[in-house]
Amino acid sequence: MTTTLTREEIFRLPKTDLHRHLDGAVQPELVIKLAKQLGVKLPTYDLAEFTKLYQITEPKGMPIDQLFQRFAWAIAVMRTPQGLCQAAYEQVLDLARENILYAEIRFAPGYHGVYPAPWYKPTAYEEPLFPIMSLENAVINVLSGLASGIAETGIEVNLTLCIPRESLFAHGPKSVADIAKLAVEFQDWGIVAIDLACDELSHSPYHYAQAFRSTIGSRIRRNPHAGEMGVDAYRLDCIQACITQLHADGLGHALPIWQSDYLMAWARTKNIRIERTPLSPVDGCSLADGHLDVLLDYKVPVVITSDDPVLMRASLTDNWLAALNYHNFGAKEFWQLTANAVNHGFFRSAAQKKRVQQLFVKQGLDRSLLMK
Ligand SMILES: [Zn+2]
Repeated sequence: MTTTLTREEIFRLPKTDLHRHLDGAVQPELVIKLAKQLGVKLPTYDLAEFTKLYQITEPKGMPIDQLFQRFAWAIAVMRTPQGLCQAAYEQVLDLARENILYAEIRFAPGYHGVYPAPWYKPTAYEEPLFPIMSLENAVINVLSGLASGIAETGIEVNLTLCIPRESLFAHGPKSVADIAKLAVEFQDWGIVAIDLACDELSHSPYHYAQAFRSTIGSRIRRNPHAGEMGVDAYRLDCIQACITQLHADGLGHALPIWQSDYLMAWARTKNIRIERTPLSPVDGCSLADGHLDVLLDYKVPVVITSDDPVLMRASLTDNWLAALNYHNFGAKEFWQLTANAVNHGFFRSAAQKKRVQQLFVKQGLDRSLLMK
């Protein structure tokens, strides 16, 4: 089956990307450039050689630790204020190049300083070791880089803070509570949500309910990954826990949600957006298993996202093309899915929501698809 839209047309059409990890979206050229500037050890500084090691082309069967380890080079060059700010700035330029007019970028502030990933060994990458960046400093540097890019391109970008699940066991409950608190402190400055990320198989969502609930009453939304890993029964339980215990406003992946009328009804009536990355290798075969068409028919607010576009070597445009081809969708479905994203963005203000709507209407989105 094929779509009526060409790759070139999709590339040029206005898009959103509501689930995009900063550390999965750093171009290999930038990793090498920053590594040379900052003193980060890479196995090679040759672009072609490094790209082969850095990008994941055969994820199937790769142990999850090894999968995460590929992120370490990108994180290493973002463990200084200069590197983190530069990467955030370049990220916005990359978004604008692909005509992504609104994006929500996510990152784990602790990974860049006080709460490193268990698989990140500073001595393997940093020479000399970088000073530890505080959580606040990490957030300020990303926001500052994003702001420069926004000023230059005119697109809109917000930031989501990730809580890596393993942080609870590696660094204790404070490492989880700190991120929720930080998000609320920065809610006027471009932080719009918190996320629960990384190894879902070994960590039940229930452990994180308290931190997620601590944001209720603020403008911070709750946007955990859920239903990405494991067998369907486990994934459905995680989705249910994220909705009922973590009070999710959005769910990353939620692959088997279509199997449960009850969860589908909940997502539709509560306007819980479902973020799908059709080419994501982590969630198995999301094109075949995800039933994007069923979600659309059921009027669940489903959106197309890129997750880790550089590391997984699948841009947002590639993901769109795969989804449209697989389901034999055309322009009608492209605009419906795009309207879902514009209608369910986690905007920092009513004024920003209006600006985003105007950007899309100017480039062809039918006003009648927009929710008030
Ligand atoms: Zn993700």
